[in-house]
Amino acid sequence: GTAQIGVTGLAVMGRNLARNFARNGLTVALHNRTTARTRALVDEFGDEGSFVPAESAREFVDALERPRRLIIMVKAGEPTDAVIQEFAPLLEEGDVIIDGGNAHYEDTRRRERELRERGIHFVGVGISGGEEGALHGPSIMPGGSTESYASLGPLLERIAAKAPDGTPCVTHVGPDGAGHFVKMVHNGIEYADMQLIAEAYHLLRSVAGYSPRRIADTFRRWNTGRLDSYLIEITAEVLSHTDAATGGPFVDIVEDRAEQKGTGRWTVQTALDLGVPVSGIAEAVFARSLSGHPALREASRSLQGPAAEPLDEEAAARFADQVEQALYASKIVSYTQGFHQIQAGSEEYGWDIDLGSVAAIWRAGCIIRAAFLDRIRSAFDSRPDLPSLLQDKQFAEEIGAAQDDWRATVATAVRQGVPTPGFSAALAYYDALRAERLPAALTQGQRDYFGAHTYRRTDRPGSFHTLWGGDRSEVAAD
Ligand code: NDP
Repeated sequence: GTAQIGVTGLAVMGRNLARNFARNGLTVALHNRTTARTRALVDEFGDEGSFVPAESAREFVDALERPRRLIIMVKAGEPTDAVIQEFAPLLEEGDVIIDGGNAHYEDTRRRERELRERGIHFVGVGISGGEEGALHGPSIMPGGSTESYASLGPLLERIAAKAPDGTPCVTHVGPDGAGHFVKMVHNGIEYADMQLIAEAYHLLRSVAGYSPRRIADTFRRWNTGRLDSYLIEITAEVLSHTDAATGGPFVDIVEDRAEQKGTGRWTVQTALDLGVPVSGIAEAVFARSLSGHPALREASRSLQGPAAEPLDEEAAARFADQVEQALYASKIVSYTQGFHQIQAGSEEYGWDIDLGSVAAIWRAGCIIRAAFLDRIRSAFDSRPDLPSLLQDKQFAEEIGAAQDDWRATVATAVRQGVPTPGFSAALAYYDALRAERLPAALTQGQRDYFGAHTYRRTDRPGSFHTLWGGDRSEVAAD
């Protein structure tokens, strides 16, 4: 075979990835279950580069140079297993199967193990950036063996997005499921970012009394500063869009029920298993769930709320500035939590993930790309053992400078009855971490009382139990 890479599964993502490889000078073998898609790609974009269309799996495999590198871009879940089963028997030792779909990292771990036994490398790759990213340069998060990365990495570097300093947004994240794990947390952080922006919008609309167009202008202004990011940029676009049918703001004509495909939920489920407090991401997932209960919301509409406190122009402008501080501080917390989860996953599965390079490959191509990520990269680069982003001197100073306005924003939201679960959870996380003593001591006392679950003392080692039902003396429990 002559093709350096093959793509099977030529729906939007696969097709754009294939074109991206071809536009970057690679010969790309093409395959799709329904051959009409393969032909359509060649008909429409055949002149963009060198394609080798294949009708059968055999033909596809034969079109690839050895060691073969084939990317699966089909629906995640059973279809991915079906396609692996179809191709694995046709491959030889040392060949590399790449799954670029949104697989759960546990599935990736299982597939990697099964294929390793057959001498085939399996590389789960997280790809972010949607259709546009796939075509023009995504952020790429590959897992799998070091050996497979040596063969695959250079090809991925060609098609990856380029960070502002020119480096490709791809790195070998770690073995087996590490890439899909990091992609999952990326999506969780994306949920949190979106929720925080939505809360800022809600406050500017309901408390400051701003129109969507004015809020768009506010976001545009914020986007020239430290909040500079793709999500803020597109938020301004969505908010300034006028609905053609009604002539009103587009945002007012869209049903307020947020949907989800599941990666945010996976992030939270995994965080629960790992015992990592990703409260900001969890609130973002729950906020979407809550929006999706129209009957419950309808029935609750008559519940009492506070009286409105309209702000004058000057107070509204001051409030908008406070909201910017709250948004920035909460964003720092979201990323702190997300990176904590990556660190915990890395320890649990022995992935040895370099957090600085994860931040680095999110700087371009993906949905959460932002100026901010360069700062996170330097924080981890200068101190790889940084226990938490909040321990970075610069972030700690910034969040400290923002905290008064952050508190004022949450207080105003509470007083005026505007839900800000993201801002509030982030602030609670910050304050809980700051606390000298947590009421967890009381929780331990309660657990010991009703379940003899024992507790540890601050003044000496060991586990203890108090005889609550007896004379309340203390016994050593070890
Ligand atoms: P879809 O998820 O819609 O999947 C369609 C493709 O899967 C078609 O090529 C289809 O073939 C193929 N397929 C489905 N079932 C089977 C099967 N049993 N056997 C063989 N082929 C099958 O395509 P997308 O392009 O939207 O997404 C591809 C992957 O990328 C998914 O895992 C998705 O989650 C992920 N994704 C990632 C995004 C990102 O930003 N990173 C954005 C969107 C998706 P046929 O034409 O014959 O029906």
